[in-house]
Amino acid sequence: MAIALDGSYPDDMFPGGFAGQQRLTPFGRRRLQQAEHLFSLTDPHLRISARIEASGAASGAAQPRRQPELNEPAAHDSYASDIDSKLVRESFSRIAQNGGAVLEYFYARLFVQYPDMRSMFPHAMHEHMERVFTAIARIVWSVDNPDSLTEYLSQLGRGHRKFGVKDRHYEPFLAVLSETVRHFSGESWTCRTQAAWDAALGRAASAMRAAAERDAEQQPPWWIGEVVQHDLRRPDLAVLTIRPDQPLHYLPGQYVAVQVPRWPRVWRNFSIANAPRENGLIDLHVRGVCGGMVSGWLVRGTRPGDTLLLGPACGEMTASDDADAALLCVAGGTGLAPIKAIIEGVINSSRPGRRREIVLYFGARSQEDLYDLADLRVLEWIYPPLTVIPVVSGPQEFDGIRGMLPHVVAQHANCEGREIFVSGPDEMVSKTAGLLAGRVEPGQIRHDPPDPAR
Ligand SMILES: Cc1cc2nc3c(=O)[nH]c(=O)nc-3n(C[C@H](O)[C@H](O)[C@H](O)COP(=O)(O)OP(=O)(O)OC[C@H]3O[C@@H](n4cnc5c(N)ncnc54)[C@H](O)[C@@H]3O)c2cc1C
Repeated sequence: MAIALDGSYPDDMFPGGFAGQQRLTPFGRRRLQQAEHLFSLTDPHLRISARIEASGAASGAAQPRRQPELNEPAAHDSYASDIDSKLVRESFSRIAQNGGAVLEYFYARLFVQYPDMRSMFPHAMHEHMERVFTAIARIVWSVDNPDSLTEYLSQLGRGHRKFGVKDRHYEPFLAVLSETVRHFSGESWTCRTQAAWDAALGRAASAMRAAAERDAEQQPPWWIGEVVQHDLRRPDLAVLTIRPDQPLHYLPGQYVAVQVPRWPRVWRNFSIANAPRENGLIDLHVRGVCGGMVSGWLVRGTRPGDTLLLGPACGEMTASDDADAALLCVAGGTGLAPIKAIIEGVINSSRPGRRREIVLYFGARSQEDLYDLADLRVLEWIYPPLTVIPVVSGPQEFDGIRGMLPHVVAQHANCEGREIFVSGPDEMVSKTAGLLAGRVEPGQIRHDPPDPAR
């Protein structure tokens, strides 16, 4: 259940603000002392961590941890063992035909019975409701597939920490959900259906809670990131360098969710565009989509000294450790971000006798839109096994390969024995994967999940 609750913001915070942040403008912008703009290459976290600690608003990690209940199943227990999955699926199918009304009823009840919870959700609930519905549907349809479901629920549990979901939120959420299903099931609802739903939801919540608890032992629910550099490369594209307040561990190719002060409780994913650095700074490549809330603010509304929230790193698009496998990378627009991180990671781990060949196709509409080509040329220079091939699809002059990126890759690229990474707009990714499908092994092509915001 995607319970998007932001309740773990420290209780004394103003709406739209972040812990430790002074509110000097309606968008939560914080002016820094000039000295603070200069980020240290040796100890990047020291100043901001100290400031946050001093403010007493460090993180949810300081809050008392919930003790596991004795009868709580471990996340790896067989999820489906005692659940009448057929009954759950049948009743869900009935109410799913009326999905919008079901969710509206559910949230109306939830907010009437637990008014405190309203402030934990975004103002615009439509997109959020769709995600909740998708998550419930996935849980219901996977009830018989405990392995994949347990992993999914664990991810949900971990991911919901950044929304502020605490143990105490599960019970009301589940009670109202169960009551909603009963309401819409009408006369088909029986004691057995109730028992089946209670078992399914109870197990789902246990798996999420257990995963969240394990995660809390290792990392905070979110990080406060300070923008230390904002480089507007195109009118609609910026490269931001951000200093997390605590070490944020990730693998090259992973992404983080970002929340900006302008849009409380709205999170969007952005790939980290560099391999981990000693100074902990991360780069994001952001294209401002037309009318986009978070991307628009990141490109046009932010500047050095502003703060934002970062969720934990996630994503499976990472390179293997295989020293011999060459890489084929395909990046469209800001899809370059995770690919650049992967390439940097491979370069960082190279040594004599271990220099993996990398071919990168980097596509954009025009030459000017190849916004990071200069950096890529530097990487090519310091790491000769890297070949960067720019591709332009628009009609303007260009002294290089012209065409649509998926077609160019399908026509020119060598896939054999390569780890293949494809990143960019969803259509470009699926088109490329489709065109290469006959020439690659299952699982040889890696890409991120489609963007749920679209
Ligand atoms: C795993 C992952 C990694 C991502 N990494 C990056 C990244 O590194 N850099 C980056 O810039 N973005 C990245 N995105 C996309 C990003 O998460 C947001 O979806 C995007 O910035 C739009 O969010 P928004 O709040 O600005 O727009 P919204 O306010 O959600 O949307 C406003 C309007 O724009 C439309 N829209 C949303 N996204 C797009 C789009 N991509 N193209 C065209 N129209 C759109 C919506 O349908 C809506 O009509 C990634 C997405 C995923 C799933």
